Amino acid sequence: MPGIIVTLILIYILWRLIVGFSPKVSDEVHEELVQDPVCGLYLPKSEALLVKKGGHEVHFCSDKCKDLFLIEEKKNDENL
Ligand SMILES: [Zn+2]
Repeated sequence: MPGIIVTLILIYILWRLIVGFSPKVSDEVHEELVQDPVCGLYLPKSEALLVKKGGHEVHFCSDKCKDLFLIEEKKNDENL
């Protein structure tokens, strides 16, 4: 009979590993998504580049989009 007990323990350990990993995955899935105003891409807030502009936060997928946005903002400021 000890063989069955060892098998059950192994199944239990494997089950705990699978259950233990799944909450991390669901946390990423449920993470707040933000939109890049330049290219329109949605990405997790933790991966986005943050720029504070006029009291609110603007998020970007890359430095390229951030630079494009700041150049456009600068143009608008010069036109005023
Ligand atoms: Zn972008």
